[in-house]
Amino acid sequence: MSAKKLLILPGDGIGVEVMAQVRRIIDWLGKRRKIEFDLSEGLIGGSAYDVHGTPLADETLADALAADAVLLGAVGGPKWDNLPFDKKPERGLLKIRKEMGLFANLRPATVFDALVDASTLKPEIVAGLDIMILRELTGGLYFGQPRGIETLPDGSRRGVNTLVYTTEEVRRIGRVAFELARKRNKRVCSVDKANVLECTVLWREEMVKLQREEFPDVELSHMYVDNAAMQLVRNPKQFDVMVTENTFGDILSDCAAMLTGSLGMLPSASLGAADENGRRRALYEPVHGSAPDIAGKDIANPLATILSFAMCLRYSFDMEAEADLIETAVKTVLKGGLRTGDIMQPGKAKVSTTVMGEAVVRELDK
Ligand code: ATP
Ligand code: MG
Repeated sequence: MSAKKLLILPGDGIGVEVMAQVRRIIDWLGKRRKIEFDLSEGLIGGSAYDVHGTPLADETLADALAADAVLLGAVGGPKWDNLPFDKKPERGLLKIRKEMGLFANLRPATVFDALVDASTLKPEIVAGLDIMILRELTGGLYFGQPRGIETLPDGSRRGVNTLVYTTEEVRRIGRVAFELARKRNKRVCSVDKANVLECTVLWREEMVKLQREEFPDVELSHMYVDNAAMQLVRNPKQFDVMVTENTFGDILSDCAAMLTGSLGMLPSASLGAADENGRRRALYEPVHGSAPDIAGKDIANPLATILSFAMCLRYSFDMEAEADLIETAVKTVLKGGLRTGDIMQPGKAKVSTTVMGEAVVRELDK
């Protein structure tokens, strides 16, 4: 098997610091498990603008399109706040997502035993939580036409957005959901508003057909989005994979993130269309941003990015065993009492970004 092509884009701010810790893990995989990657590194965001005059150079984009997976840190910072709109660091991120055709956004919400207290909910509600929210990312209400604000003949105005999905768009996000469920607990809950919105009636019908035709081994249930929001807070552990429309997913995934209570711990993945071998374009990144307030101080939490890399191993490289090892090492390090500032608890040891990264590698070594 040829080495997997991995493009690393540290980006700006703490992105650079947290990515350096992933490098340690990559080194460890090479030394201890003889796993070599075809690695390259590039610039994105403000750091790319400083060198190339654009937040995403064509050659970097070409590298991303040729890679088996892209691992990204974060972009942005006050230094680049006053650039023209199309030069802003965030444009680089939006462009790479669009050009890679990433229509599926995976946001796991996992509560680590050692961090149960970080949640605003009661321990018995969140302890052991491990769910996956899958958000459709390129369609739905955020992209449907017609849209805009128009002035009517009588001078009054109206704003319009439109919820649109084609059967093909529903089926391709549905396939990702069922494939994910096969790697987890074989349960998918499709979230819609089929009692009110026709577009989501079609969504539900297509999910039902897809399950019957291609994924009869996976259990499919349906829930209205208002109830889903309520259930996420009331009893989140009833879910495994939740799949939903763009806007609904935006809201539900942030809600689920807060069940865990720690931004510095949350990984994400965005996937594109499958090629003839079933391989998907993929970009992995922490949910948090470049955190300019703490950049350059070696205090950022690297675990969200380390866990994003574990997702990359699991979903793009079929290295389930190594993904499990990394996730277990993270859990053990937390159990041992090490904390970066963002997840600090009384009685625990406050450590730097570097020390946290080293601790994960030391744990892997055991
Ligand atoms: P963006 O617009 O890129 O999403 P943001 O302004 O919403 O960025 P983040 O950069 O995600 O914010 O972070 C918000 C705050 O949370 C930061 O200012 C920082 O203090 C804290 N934070 C975020 N990520 C981490 C981390 N990995 N480790 C420690 N603290 C973090
Ligand atoms: Mg933000």
